[in-house]
Amino acid sequence: MPELPEVEVTRRGIAPKLVGKSITAVAVREARLRWRIPSSVSELPGRSVRAVRRRGKYLLLDCGDGHLIVHLGMSGSLRFVPPGTAPGKHDHFDIEIGGSVLRLRDPRRFGAVLWTEAPAEAHPLIRHLGIEPLSRALSAARLHALSRSSAVQIKSFLMDGRRIVGVGNIYASESLFLAGIDPRKRAGRLSAEHCALLSKSIKRTLRTAIRAGGSSLRDFVGSDGTEGYFQRRAWVYDRAGETCRRCGAAIRKIVQGQRATYFCAGCQK
Ligand SMILES: [Zn+2]
Repeated sequence: MPELPEVEVTRRGIAPKLVGKSITAVAVREARLRWRIPSSVSELPGRSVRAVRRRGKYLLLDCGDGHLIVHLGMSGSLRFVPPGTAPGKHDHFDIEIGGSVLRLRDPRRFGAVLWTEAPAEAHPLIRHLGIEPLSRALSAARLHALSRSSAVQIKSFLMDGRRIVGVGNIYASESLFLAGIDPRKRAGRLSAEHCALLSKSIKRTLRTAIRAGGSSLRDFVGSDGTEGYFQRRAWVYDRAGETCRRCGAAIRKIVQGQRATYFCAGCQK
């Protein structure tokens, strides 16, 4: 499933080929994604893309008088293909722009392509999203303030997108290892020092993943985050029973909120 780093890698990959360019055509081959692709996308040709932003795992193509909101869902990816390239079975949506075609492939059809003429931040899918972990909004003080009244275990707290967006299962486990915090600790019990360590660890983990994704970027963008470079170098994620790279203890696996958590009881207190 594409996570925040893959979506950010996708954004960086597609933005240079979209910004300042005019949309010349749109093709909808299958409108039934997570939500139906609105027929209003047929009005996109003639509009220019001013910016490509990301909010959580949503890509926002700013067209001045509206935004195209794209979500990759469980299995979506975007790639550029030359005009006239025959679509595959799962290639549901195209935007022809700047002499190239940006094509959405989404085998499981949990992705989304939506158009809004209101400010993107006001859209029902966007407006309740938590703070961006890579922005300055996620500071030690903010994390401390957010967590004060929470009795939830910190691992589950981090994965709740209403507070902080985009800290998926891999990144929550890895960040807690780097910060030396037991994933079962109650969020409200974290000290100011813990929050400083954790906010830095979240940013470092996500940036490492973005760099790893970026290094494999060619014409294809939006890879599967559970595979590849980043996971092979994980400190704890998916390493149950293996030895901790720091202290040599066995990595443990537990279940929290129906998700697997990996941690080192030696390093994480
Ligand atoms: Zn350890």
